[in-house]
Amino acid sequence: MNDIFAAKDRGCDLIYKKKLIEHFPYDNYRRYQEKAIEAIYNAFEVKGFNHVLLESPCGSGKSANAVTIARYYGDAYLLTSQTVLQNQYMRDYGCPGKFSDIMGRRNYYCAVMENCTCDDGFCSGGKCPDPTECPYIIAKEDAASSEIALMNYTYFLFATKHSQTFFPRKLIIYDEAHSIDKVLMGFVEIKIKSRGIQRFGDISRIPRFDKASEYIPWLIEISKCLKDEMKDNQVIYKQILSENSSHDGKLSVNDVIKSVRRKIENSEKRINKIEEYAKRFDVDKWVTKVYEGRTQDDDEVVFKPISVAPYSQECFFNYGEKHLYMSATLLDKSNFCRNIGIDEKDAHMIRVPSTFPPENRKIFFINTGSMSYKEKRDTLPKISADVNKIMNLYPDKKGMIYTVNWEIYDHIFSTISTKNRRRLLGHKNGDRNTALYEFIKMKSPRVLITPSLSEGIDLKDDRARFLIVVKMPYPNMSDPQVKAKKDVDQDWFRYQTVLTLIQVCGRGVRSPEDWCDIYILDSCFNQIRNPGWPGYRPPNFFTDDFIAGLNEGDKHINKIEGYNLHE
Ligand code: SF4
Repeated sequence: MNDIFAAKDRGCDLIYKKKLIEHFPYDNYRRYQEKAIEAIYNAFEVKGFNHVLLESPCGSGKSANAVTIARYYGDAYLLTSQTVLQNQYMRDYGCPGKFSDIMGRRNYYCAVMENCTCDDGFCSGGKCPDPTECPYIIAKEDAASSEIALMNYTYFLFATKHSQTFFPRKLIIYDEAHSIDKVLMGFVEIKIKSRGIQRFGDISRIPRFDKASEYIPWLIEISKCLKDEMKDNQVIYKQILSENSSHDGKLSVNDVIKSVRRKIENSEKRINKIEEYAKRFDVDKWVTKVYEGRTQDDDEVVFKPISVAPYSQECFFNYGEKHLYMSATLLDKSNFCRNIGIDEKDAHMIRVPSTFPPENRKIFFINTGSMSYKEKRDTLPKISADVNKIMNLYPDKKGMIYTVNWEIYDHIFSTISTKNRRRLLGHKNGDRNTALYEFIKMKSPRVLITPSLSEGIDLKDDRARFLIVVKMPYPNMSDPQVKAKKDVDQDWFRYQTVLTLIQVCGRGVRSPEDWCDIYILDSCFNQIRNPGWPGYRPPNFFTDDFIAGLNEGDKHINKIEGYNLHE
């Protein structure tokens, strides 16, 4: 991974350079920032690529680069994956008419009903007395007419599909682009829980078939039931709306109204998905699986395409002439392009080097033992011992333990020393963001333990001085889509593993002065790291700064008390 800015990428025509610079939002550039902007311009305008991949590490000024390019074209969508990033963009660059954002309706308060978000407004019943005052409608129109419209991926996908407000633009910028395939999968996949259709009688019992297409007659029946129910609910909705409108035109909302409206919307979404995607089950190779719950009512059936690539054109590419994908972990052009259906010949990749010193992000490969399915039973006791040792090395520092799954999470919780257990801060399935928020505020040397917080979290400075990756984060093989995709594309499986690993390892060092020690315990890391290891296959996906961190770790590992044990 080198050759970050090939000579041919550097510099651009002076006139255009001046125009580009006018749009840069600050007085000074960070290192490599100006070159990155020029390289993007060159790739689009000089070389004629429609898809440009910008791998740019944390601290390289990626957001300002995006804003410069978006302002230059003056007609762009900027898509983010997280609300926190969206807010940050607005705080730094927001400007009415030029740079506006839009979120889902529930983020705005209805102008005519008290304590009610726009999600629960009366508008779908045609009852709003003054839609021109509606904060959601105002924000949406502002975003639609703005030079740069900022929104999250999910909003973009729904809004472009279901409303007539957002049209194709010159440019789409995809921030945190490594997650596009997951976002798209979430958008197209169909999930039906038995409990959610219980009211339809016998049909709520999920049948068992091997192929997704065998479910189509059952799905059509479900869709019919949903349509009938939706019609009934629409009548009820109109009726309760009129009952809740007083003579002076004031409106009130209650839980019954909210619940009926939600039911209508949920039915609509499901019917649309079934009608649109079920007919593509065979063509686009969809897979299916029934997840059995504690009771039959908790059973859930899931339908997914093996690859989301066939859906990118209609969901993303049709809405932009040019596409800029930005992330610290694009890693590999071929894999990235293949995953989301870009023709590799039409894509250009630019890599920006890290400016963070590798000695500040040492990665220690501890090689505790194999955490593979067959061998984890023998390894788990050693894992707890090593977690104890590492925590003891940092008695007054905060840190994080990434377990990958709940089994290891529970094991560590129940087997580490009492003293260290008191330092752990865990979470349950639904409250990880609350736990993270608590953890960030804490001053004492607590240690966040999580099976799932692998990206999108900022553990800068004293928020985390050590980070333990207990198990290699392989994609979950119990997911039929993962299994089917691995069967046809081994490279993809390794790519996803390395991507998650690098994302996790990047949580603790967020500036050149910041530092965090990283420990990888699982010996399975040898499979992609150690050419002498049985079954070794080079992944070729590691970033230069990850390799530099590993080399630093190798140099220093013997200096850590007790950590020459596993060599
Ligand atoms: S359109 Fe009117 S009723 Fe609907 S959310 Fe907006 S202000 Fe409320």
